Amino acid sequence: PSKVAKAGKVARALTIAGSDSGGGAGIQADLKTFQELRAFGMSAITAVTAQNTLGVRGIYPLPAEAVRMQIDAIGEDIGADAVKTGMLFGDEIIVAVAEGIRRFGWRNVVVDPVMIAKGGASLLQEQAVRALKESLLPLAMVVTPNIPEAEVLTGIAISGVTAKKEAAKRLADFGAKHVVLKGGHDVSEDGQAVDLLYDGRDFHEFRSARRDTRHTHGTGCTFAAAITAELAKGRGVAEAVEVAKAFIQAAIEDSLELGQGHGPTNHWA
Ligand code: PLP
Repeated sequence: PSKVAKAGKVARALTIAGSDSGGGAGIQADLKTFQELRAFGMSAITAVTAQNTLGVRGIYPLPAEAVRMQIDAIGEDIGADAVKTGMLFGDEIIVAVAEGIRRFGWRNVVVDPVMIAKGGASLLQEQAVRALKESLLPLAMVVTPNIPEAEVLTGIAISGVTAKKEAAKRLADFGAKHVVLKGGHDVSEDGQAVDLLYDGRDFHEFRSARRDTRHTHGTGCTFAAAITAELAKGRGVAEAVEVAKAFIQAAIEDSLELGQGHGPTNHWA
C-alpha cells in the first residue's frame, strides 16, 4: 500500500449521479474534481446520458435496485467520508439513495438538486421534486441550488437579497443543515457572482468576479464535488465552500473550448 493509504489519510468521496458521456458534468466532473483535490473518488451511477457540448441526446435511467446495489457495495466495504448527490432522475432512485445514506449513517452529504441541463433537458422528473424535498433534504449537510432550482424547491420568486435569504431559510426548514444558494444566474450584482451560505443561523457571502463565457458546462457539478472533497478531508462547511468557490472560479476562467457547443469547465485549472 502507498504511504498515504498506510497513514490512514485517504479521504473517501462518493458521488451518486448521472454519467455525462461528454466528460464535462455529472459523474465524470465529480471524479475529476475529487482527483484534483486529492480525495479517493467512488461512484454510484443513477443514469447514463448520451451528451456532448451540443446537448443531451438520450437519458437512460438505471433501475433503483442497481443504484441501491452500488451504494451498498461501497458502504459495506470501503465506506465514505463524504457523499455527493447529483442527477437522480426519479423518485424511486431518490428513495433508494436516501435509504443508503441513512443505512450507512453518512453525515457529510452534499445534495446538488440537479433539475434541468443548460440545454433544457430535464434531469429530474417533475413529480420527483417532492421526494427530493421530503426524503433527501433532511439528510443534507449542504444543499447547493442555483436560483431556478431554489425557486422550484421553495415556490419563492427570487429577486433581490431579501428573497434569497427567505428561500435559504425555507430550504433549511426542509432539513438541510447548510444552504449554498448559488448566484451565478443573478446578473443584478454588477459584475460579481455572489453565493450565499446559510448555516441555520447566519448568512455569509462569497463573492467573485463574474466571467462571461459560454463554456460553463458542468460548473454546478464541479462546485458541489469540490465541497464534497473538502468535507471528506475533514474541513468544515464554510471552509469547504471557500475552497470550492476558488476552484470553480479558476475552472471557469480557464474553461475549455472543446466541441462545437458549450465547452466544459477546466478541472486542471
Ligand atoms: N448531465 C449530467 C449527468 C448532469 O449531472 C448535469 C448537471 O448536473 C448536466 C448534464 C448539466 O450540466 P450543465 O447544465 O452544466 O450543462
